[in-house]
Amino acid sequence: MPELPEVETVVRALRQTIIGQTITGVDINNSDRIFPDKNEFAALLHGKKFEGVKRRGKNILIDLSGGHTLWVHLKMTGHFYYLPITDPIAKHDHIVFHLNNNGHNLRFNDYRRFGRLRIYRTDEIMQQKGLVELGPEPLEITSEEFVNLLSSRRRMIKPALMDQYFIVGIGNIYADESLYRTRIHPRRLTNSVSKPKLRELHGHIQKILKRAIKMMGTSVDTFAGVNGQPGKYQKYLQVYGREGEPCAKCGQAVRREKIGSRSAHYCPRCQKEPRNW
Ligand SMILES: [Zn+2]
Repeated sequence: MPELPEVETVVRALRQTIIGQTITGVDINNSDRIFPDKNEFAALLHGKKFEGVKRRGKNILIDLSGGHTLWVHLKMTGHFYYLPITDPIAKHDHIVFHLNNNGHNLRFNDYRRFGRLRIYRTDEIMQQKGLVELGPEPLEITSEEFVNLLSSRRRMIKPALMDQYFIVGIGNIYADESLYRTRIHPRRLTNSVSKPKLRELHGHIQKILKRAIKMMGTSVDTFAGVNGQPGKYQKYLQVYGREGEPCAKCGQAVRREKIGSRSAHYCPRCQKEPRNW
């Protein structure tokens, strides 16, 4: 699933391509995951201008003229593609936005079909369920706020970092990478980690996310930017997807194990199993 750096990459590319353009028509080839229904959805978009694009956690918020916002969650395999109109429409291009522009259109493609597109009034969007409960942004939270957040709870650290109501934007890949770099076992309880170590974790999370944004995300599954180009951060992954390979710090084989509901990747020597378990 796209995490913060991948979604941020999409947001930045959308800003460069669609802002200021007017939607002249919308083809809805699959309406399973849109709100409101097909006719109303198309009517709300028709003739509107794309005015701004923001990210909140893994959500994309596209402001339209006339006071509405298109809220998109890519989920597993959702993609936006900005392509020449001469490029044939692909099988999973569920929605095609026709634009008054230089021969391109915007497509929402999603072969697993979990992605969602919803339209609400801009002044009501942040109160919607799925946005209102979101935790703080990891690139905005200060080191002290982060330390307080984690030490005030008693939760297994890996699932906590992936919980969007706890802190947003961090999924399996960046949680594994950040914990590895800080040498924290994914099963550690948040309030059992020392404050200096939590400050170190905050630093690694920010550093990793910023670097991944610079590399335009990680493409280990289907992630691609709006022009179809893959991200480049996968080259820098040290534990995620490297089960059985030697740890870069100590040579021990990287282990993969189910923790919470997801596979965690970690070094059993560098990231010591907590003793209180
Ligand atoms: Zn190691």
